[in-house]
Amino acid sequence: MSRSDYEVVIGLEVHAELSTKTKIFCSCPTEFGGDPNTHTCPVCMAMPGALPVLNEKVVEYAVKAGLATNCEISRDSKNDRKNYFYPDLPKSYQISQFDKPLCEHGYVEIEDDEGNLKKVRILRIHIEEDAGKLNHNEFGGGSLVDLNRAGVPLIETVSEPDLRSAKEAENYLRKLKSIFEYIEVSDCKMQEGSLRADVNVSVHKPGTPFGTRTEMKNMNSFRSIVRAIEYEIDRQIDVIEDGGVIEQETLRWDDVSGRTFSMRDKEDAQDYRYFPDPDLVAIRLPEDYIEEIRKNLPELPESRKERYTSEYGLSEKDANLLTASKYMSNLFEGANKICNNPKAVANWLLSDISRILNEKEMEPEQIPFTAEQLAKMIELIEKGTISSAIGKKVITELFENPKDPEEIIKEKGWIQISDEGAIKEVVMKILEANPQSVSDFKAGKDKALGFLVGQAMKETRGQANPQMLNKMFLEELNK
Ligand code: ADP
Ligand code: ZN
Ligand code: MG
Repeated sequence: MSRSDYEVVIGLEVHAELSTKTKIFCSCPTEFGGDPNTHTCPVCMAMPGALPVLNEKVVEYAVKAGLATNCEISRDSKNDRKNYFYPDLPKSYQISQFDKPLCEHGYVEIEDDEGNLKKVRILRIHIEEDAGKLNHNEFGGGSLVDLNRAGVPLIETVSEPDLRSAKEAENYLRKLKSIFEYIEVSDCKMQEGSLRADVNVSVHKPGTPFGTRTEMKNMNSFRSIVRAIEYEIDRQIDVIEDGGVIEQETLRWDDVSGRTFSMRDKEDAQDYRYFPDPDLVAIRLPEDYIEEIRKNLPELPESRKERYTSEYGLSEKDANLLTASKYMSNLFEGANKICNNPKAVANWLLSDISRILNEKEMEPEQIPFTAEQLAKMIELIEKGTISSAIGKKVITELFENPKDPEEIIKEKGWIQISDEGAIKEVVMKILEANPQSVSDFKAGKDKALGFLVGQAMKETRGQANPQMLNKMFLEELNK
């Protein structure tokens, strides 16, 4: 039996940190960073007798997320205690939601492996609080607890087990990230942990019931998620092929060794002894409250995509790529507002800039330069101050050392050579060095001209004005 005899089943539990100003049950700031335990108070430090008060913004953001993912919004919801012991959890329970989540039964559309649209069902979205952070050995041995993150609001989005490959799982997570960014409920910075996923994987033979799943916790990069899923699929198939059984367990993915390790047996809901939090009142949402939020939802990727094809004349594919990330799309709009050249802006973003992002394994939100700097670079090309070959070099430089492109080209001496005397000098030199091409051109091989222009561009390290080169070569050759 081989890998292709098995079907893969994946479901994701995605945690997104909400970008509210204050925590979910107290008024401490949610800001990232800060000295340990400076963003704390008796409530998030779990002092006896301190009482939580639900932050209304958290409910609003969760409802926004639910509406944007086609969920039904519960009119009647509540908070529950999820009990477990861990040093980063000062109350020894996490306030979460058990049987009455705020949002249920939604879906998002993604591209499957054949490139077709596919609905991935969302089981639920609930609100909960984040735990603190353990610092190991950072302060001279031992472990210290930092509660700045304790009580930061999260939404957990649980998918149905509808995903069938690592690629689909990646597409799904990218889609959720994009939606949450568009509706501005989370900044979704994976490097800072504000978007992370628990990845559940199982394999089975088609026509048989789903296999036992394993769960990889707290994954926060697309690349490791894909690698971890691929690894886990192979591992599970090997175990089954060797006559073994898959244990339901929680795994830790290790990026360095490229394999998973067992963390603990999987706990069941009953192990958490969930019960309603007696310190908090039930959440009842009036109809007009939900309608108000629905009415004010910002533009979502789908409608932005349509606007890009109709308003800017971009292709479906380009519009899709640009709007997949809100950051990318904002950069596009910002730059276009200044230079008013949608095709050029789209081109630079989707070719050179995307290539560099790929090489550096960066996400669009990590682009260090501004829309204004990108627009300026494009305007310098339009004005003929630099060639597009130099433009490419400017983009590379903008990634390293972002500043005004005009300053960059001055400093580097990259201004396009449009001086007739200088161009002529290069043309004569190249003609002299390539007598074969000259006679080829005279014998009717037009391609030789392109070669000569290319040589001249090389000679001037891309700085000669290509139109002028073309013209002057023709003049000389036709003499
Ligand atoms: P828990 O919190 O115990 O992990 P949840 O119900 O919150 O349980 O989440 C279960 C997740 O596992 C969901 O995303 C679901 O889609 C996924 N899942 C359930 N069964 C399977 C399976 N057989 N294979 C892969 N994923 C599964
Ligand atoms: Zn607090
Ligand atoms: Mg889970």
